[in-house]
Amino acid sequence: MMSRLFIYYTAEDSGVGFEADGMQLSLNAALKVVKQEAGDEIPDELGIYEAAIMVNQKPDIFNQLIKYIRETGKEKECALPQGWEFGIPVQPTKIIAIGRNYTDHAKEMNNEPPKEPMFFSKLTSSMTSNKRPVAIPEGVGRVDHEIELAVIIGSTATRVSQDKAMDHVLGYTIFNDITARDMQKEEGAKGKPWTRAKGFDTFGPCGPYLVPKVMIEDPHNLELELRVNGEVRQTGNTGDMVFKIPELIEFVSDSCTLFPGDVIITGTPAGVSPLKAGDVITAGIDNLGLLESPVTSR
Ligand code: ZN
Repeated sequence: MMSRLFIYYTAEDSGVGFEADGMQLSLNAALKVVKQEAGDEIPDELGIYEAAIMVNQKPDIFNQLIKYIRETGKEKECALPQGWEFGIPVQPTKIIAIGRNYTDHAKEMNNEPPKEPMFFSKLTSSMTSNKRPVAIPEGVGRVDHEIELAVIIGSTATRVSQDKAMDHVLGYTIFNDITARDMQKEEGAKGKPWTRAKGFDTFGPCGPYLVPKVMIEDPHNLELELRVNGEVRQTGNTGDMVFKIPELIEFVSDSCTLFPGDVIITGTPAGVSPLKAGDVITAGIDNLGLLESPVTSR
């Protein structure tokens, strides 16, 4: 059964939440309740990465936890705080973005798919959480959405071979690689990097969940769909990636060490389109939930 993790926050508080069996609860409150009964073998607190590792080892653990909470009538003690919102589920030291990894998107940008993976770095300061605005700066011209499957690294990976690569994956989330397209083209033509065009504050919506690896049977068979104001703009399947996740981890980790929490965003399918203030973007991937972003100007 599906279990997912998330970060919740309010003005006063933040913590790790979990979802299983149709319920969303505070993980550390739930641990406290079980600890009263089971004692020392239960940890006092778990961070979101530790919790995901635990689920990957014992996929049923949150269902058992919820069952216990229901049986003992402790739902209220484990409730999330009033008015909570989703935070960003990961804190990467870097975001590695794969370019032109879907043939149909490479074509719509008048590019051939590359012979080997190409990657660039997306700034971590661009990240924002579910339902937080994407703010379009004045005078930058066309700004596009790019729905992508984000792979979250769980353990340090240096020069990892393809056959060991998936051992280093913690889980998955959704990422929207917002791009100032005119600026990317103009500056690119002058030999400048894409960092600025893709690195504006709020240009990296991420979340809402960290879905542990074990919950996703085949990460190369997930439907992606992005809508703007309810209208479908991008559809695709992760099976159409030119370079699959193990190849990407091998290639990237050959040049730079990947640390726990680091994120690889695996490229976008065709259908990228311009955004304007007032739009609402919803980016969905099978079993990963829906990442919603209202668009504003600044
Ligand atoms: Zn992208």
